Amino acid sequence: MPTPRLVRSRLSSRARTHAHASSNKHTPASVAVPNLAASAAVPTNTQNAPLGSPAIVAAGSAAAIAAAGLAVKRVLDTPAREYKEGAQVGKEYDAWHDEGILEYYWGEHIHLGYYSDEERAEGYKKKDFKQAKYDFIDEMFHWGTQPIDTSNVKTVLDVGCGIGGTSRYLAKKLLPNATVTGITISEKQVERATQLAKGQDVPNAKFELMDALNMEYPDNSFDMVWACESGEHMPDKTKYVNEMLRVLKPGGRLIIATWCQRDNLDALKASGASEEAMANAYENLVGFTDEEKSRLDFLYREWAHPYFISYEEYARVCERSGMATDITTDDWAQQTIPSWRHSVWAGVYDPWTVFSRPRAWYRTLRDIVTLERMHRAFSDGLLTYGMISCTKK
Ligand code: SAH
Repeated sequence: MPTPRLVRSRLSSRARTHAHASSNKHTPASVAVPNLAASAAVPTNTQNAPLGSPAIVAAGSAAAIAAAGLAVKRVLDTPAREYKEGAQVGKEYDAWHDEGILEYYWGEHIHLGYYSDEERAEGYKKKDFKQAKYDFIDEMFHWGTQPIDTSNVKTVLDVGCGIGGTSRYLAKKLLPNATVTGITISEKQVERATQLAKGQDVPNAKFELMDALNMEYPDNSFDMVWACESGEHMPDKTKYVNEMLRVLKPGGRLIIATWCQRDNLDALKASGASEEAMANAYENLVGFTDEEKSRLDFLYREWAHPYFISYEEYARVCERSGMATDITTDDWAQQTIPSWRHSVWAGVYDPWTVFSRPRAWYRTLRDIVTLERMHRAFSDGLLTYGMISCTKK
């Protein structure tokens, strides 16, 4: 999931060079700019009106409103919270935690919810927003563990655990005989997760501050490795997967859920990209149109994501590791899409928490814009919701 307010990164600027070479002309902002500017600049029938006349005042006000609208649109169309590096992501999650808004609205889980076919047909707003997140974990667990006997699972690693909602749910409900260790790069999240585990009496869930790309655990340490919406923040997807497979015991299950982009293998192959480069930032927008590149670029840069890859590419990364078998993938875009607009409705139904924090208004407005853009990207297939699981050989 996203973090706010990050600054430009080396990686993302390289990605941007690639993404932006010819795309800026086609951003929604620049499409809209000439129209708005034109409506602000062209005098209507005011040329012969005396200064201070109602016509001049009206034209002036219209121009001022149009200019202000244009300025706001420009600000909102320019990503402001870019990925910098792992430690910075941690600091941003710290700040986000301190603000309190995320936990208030989203509860203990920082990931999308699950909405069944029937629930979507009935209308997603009838579903409890927070319950959808618990349902997601139940579904992910069921989907990812099908090939294994979970009674043998005694040690679980939750990679990028947030404030530990999922770790505690696994420890308390789904795998009560296992010890669950959650790691995150945010100090404040470790503190909060530990506090909640104590308060909720979940002694078999513990939390540590650790970088998923350089884990301190020995090889073959865990029976299951779980990663829910942390891959989005990883600047090296191959290392992310390889590290998780390294600490997994042979026969253990790796289960990943992560936001992905549409697969572009054919275009990558045609471009002559190496296999490693295919899972990397700057090669991975080959084959997308300029308009798509521009949309992806906004979505990656706004919420501190270095870049995404496709879930098919995640499967290829697992394959290339040489450590994985039984690799399974799926796209849960449909099951999770209602989450985007439901997030906005959660705030509309209960706006007081946002209103009582004026310093959060601007970011909230940015988030609403991004949530809607996410909704569209997942709806038209530009982004996909990747489910990837495999067994360690
Ligand atoms: N899986 C959690 C939270 C997802 S939010 C849940 O289900 O609620 C993304 C999480 O990834 C955050 O906790 C963030 O701190 C963590 N994260 C991002 N980059 C990381 C890194 N390099 N190492 C460890 N954790 C990381």
